[in-house]
Amino acid sequence: MNDMILELAKKIKSMYPQKDFIPLHEPKFKGNEQKYIADCIETGWVSSVGKYVDQFERMLAEFTGVKRAVAVVNGTAALHIALKIVGIQPNDEVLIPSLTFVATGNAVVYCGAVPHFIDVSTETLGIDPFKLDDYLRDVAVINGNVCINKQTGRIIRAVVPMHTFGHPVDIDVLFDVCERWNLIMVEDAAESLGSYYKGIHTGNFGKASALSFNGNKIITTGGGGAVLTNDEKLADYAKHLTTTAKRPHRWKYEHDQIGYNYRMPNINAALGCAQLEYIDDLIEKKRRLVQRYEQLIAGCQGVRLFKEPRFARSNYWLQTLIFDENICDINQVLETFNNQKVMSRPIWTPLHLLRPFQNSPKADLQVTEKLQYQIVNIPSSPYLGDDIDG
Ligand SMILES: *Cc1c(COP(=O)(O)O)cnc(C)c1O
Repeated sequence: MNDMILELAKKIKSMYPQKDFIPLHEPKFKGNEQKYIADCIETGWVSSVGKYVDQFERMLAEFTGVKRAVAVVNGTAALHIALKIVGIQPNDEVLIPSLTFVATGNAVVYCGAVPHFIDVSTETLGIDPFKLDDYLRDVAVINGNVCINKQTGRIIRAVVPMHTFGHPVDIDVLFDVCERWNLIMVEDAAESLGSYYKGIHTGNFGKASALSFNGNKIITTGGGGAVLTNDEKLADYAKHLTTTAKRPHRWKYEHDQIGYNYRMPNINAALGCAQLEYIDDLIEKKRRLVQRYEQLIAGCQGVRLFKEPRFARSNYWLQTLIFDENICDINQVLETFNNQKVMSRPIWTPLHLLRPFQNSPKADLQVTEKLQYQIVNIPSSPYLGDDIDG
């Protein structure tokens, strides 16, 4: 096994002999970035007002097919606001996968609510809706139109599916579960810009959804995020909350509630506009990289490349190796890959194992507990999908 892993690392490294180090995910700016940013600087519109913010929001809505997008400072803020606008209240419970980036859990806590951890499916790496339904039959009851956790007495208000590494969860099945249990769906689509479930872009299914444009995401605005929603009123509310809840007036400072300064600066939006112009090409390259990797690992025993679920077209944000259970020590794999200067990372530590979430309610998390030792993400930059360095 160790020899096979070393050989695999060397093969990946040899895809790019001219590169001394292959990062996990690296942005490359090849469009109008310089031009748009120069425009911000020349006109002085670099901060919280400017045409690129509006343009970026329109472009996001058009690309995703979601009615409205509200650009914000990062994906975590987008999640926080998405949860707030759909009505998450202090002391509510919100069902989230334990196998996610910490931001999903943090955003729930920012609302004063309690994350309640559920397991994932090996088919999607996201929430397993069948297992969730069974679990709710055990622990929950519908009382006066709300879902109550029988053990804690709290309202279970919502569920947040996260589309892991860009692979959509089984939305239709999850939707049925939401209907049965009166749960609001909020999508954490931070990793799934450019991913489709049965032909519809992720982020369309939740009452509200969140995107991220952090430096390692599929497109980046330096730092940034967006709230997506098909509900015009909720979009207006998201805009209001993220711009300090100031009522429009020519000069008066009147704020009608506690708002947030979460607005995306114009200079960041400019970067986003430029990349959205060629996002289709980035996704095409990522999908081609899957094929290149598949050729490389053909014949390797005990490991496979994670492929999109049958109902999805995924952006393949991060390429993912899945090792057979108990076949190797994942730290050994990471050591070997990183020593070969092929940057690799494990999946996140499941949130229920992190100190801040230790007392949170949780379902059986068998699949999550196993998967944490089976997954390695390998270099995934779009340009690696080019035949020659592009
Ligand atoms: C990146 C990410 C976020 C948060 O995005 P930031 O822009 O880094 O705040 C949230 N959830 C998931 C699953 C992510 O991968």
